[in-house]
Amino acid sequence: MNVSEQEQDIVIVGGGICGLATALALRRKGIKSMVLERSETLRAAGVGIIMQPNGWRALDQLGVAAKLRQTCTEIPSKKKKKKKKTQSKYICQERGITLFETVELMKALTEELPVESVYLGCRAVSILLDPLTSNPLLQLHDGTVIKAKIVIGCDGVNSIISNFVGVNSPKLFSRCSTRGFTYCEGGHSFGDKFRLYSSNDVTLGQLPVTDKLVYWFLTRVLTSQDLSDAKKDPTYITKASLEAIKGFLAEIVELVKNTEPNALYFTELRCRAPWDLGRAKFRKGTVVVAGDAMHAMCPFISQGGGASLEDALVLARCLSEKLKQATEGGGKRLVEEALDEYVRERRMRVFWLSLQTYFIGLAQDNTSKVKKALGIAGLILVFGDQRSHTEYDCGRL
Ligand SMILES: Cc1cc2nc3c(=O)[nH]c(=O)nc-3n(C[C@H](O)[C@H](O)[C@H](O)COP(=O)(O)OP(=O)(O)OC[C@H]3O[C@@H](n4cnc5c(N)ncnc54)[C@H](O)[C@@H]3O)c2cc1C
Repeated sequence: MNVSEQEQDIVIVGGGICGLATALALRRKGIKSMVLERSETLRAAGVGIIMQPNGWRALDQLGVAAKLRQTCTEIPSKKKKKKKKTQSKYICQERGITLFETVELMKALTEELPVESVYLGCRAVSILLDPLTSNPLLQLHDGTVIKAKIVIGCDGVNSIISNFVGVNSPKLFSRCSTRGFTYCEGGHSFGDKFRLYSSNDVTLGQLPVTDKLVYWFLTRVLTSQDLSDAKKDPTYITKASLEAIKGFLAEIVELVKNTEPNALYFTELRCRAPWDLGRAKFRKGTVVVAGDAMHAMCPFISQGGGASLEDALVLARCLSEKLKQATEGGGKRLVEEALDEYVRERRMRVFWLSLQTYFIGLAQDNTSKVKKALGIAGLILVFGDQRSHTEYDCGRL
């Protein structure tokens, strides 16, 4: 951006799933916004994403579900358990979950937005409230200052906007995740079922996408080397993954071994504690947060992306209802009311999602029997139906 000072109505910081979905939801309501993305291209966080039925409901409302359905893979039905002749366990998932390449989701959202509304290579470095007008002032890396009426922070786990509104930083989790797509030239032998293998501290999920392409994800204990520069080296990522799955089925080991470096994605896991979500202020003035910037959670129930889509929809709905009245005066107060309404509607939903992932994290903890027992008890007592989070409907746009 080469303008030293700009005035804008709504600025969305971050062009990930949540930022793009929020811009699209606002657009569908006839409200213009500007998306600032620090990367030079729209990057997808991770190679593949599992979408649960609640996420699909939001995608339907955003008007992009039909397009996406053509590119995705449905995880087949039937709950069954089989005993394998290895130490690993094998579990099938239920119907209604789908997987697509994250880039397809980003593409579907971006295609519906005017090109001039997404600014790439624009990193927000700080934000404050104008002492005179109390409107947000957003400073970019190149010195540009944007005077906005509303700022929506969709800038992910390490969000500067959530720091500004006063949300605690997410904590580093004791496990990390690697995801990959493996192309099997001569076809693979995995059939069409989603499978989850676990052994000691390692969990590996595997899902065939086509008869030649397989998606997999692995969670294992985080080591000090994972926190060093080594994590950027695909050879290290593959080696550490293979080390973790020693003793797993030979075809699983081959799958991981044969993943191309550009189809591998390693990530540390960061999450906010459920009690933080229960009490945090997600709004300051007319600045608010959404997506991972609001509710970073571990990916055990594959809901971060779906919940981000729900945020986008609810936020646009609340804003559009109040902005209609704002033409009659009292603009800022009405905007703040809209943002509070959005926070109220989202708080308990993200609290329960986060609590469920928290219990799963405890249940997977092999370092303490007490924690493990607490996690299992929490899951049974509080979340009798482990899939009920997918039934949520965030309503119409
Ligand atoms: C291992 C793993 C597996 C997962 N699997 C699933 C799954 O199967 N299903 C699912 O629903 N969810 C899944 N998730 C969660 C999901 O990926 C996230 O919840 C989702 O990507 C959040 O979207 P977001 O837009 O809020 O954040 P992000 O996708 O992180 O996007 C934030 C964007 O903001 C930009 N940005 C950051 N700071 C600035 C700044 N200062 N200025 C400008 N731009 C900035 C970043 O470059 C980025 O593009 C998974 C997460 C992980 C870690």
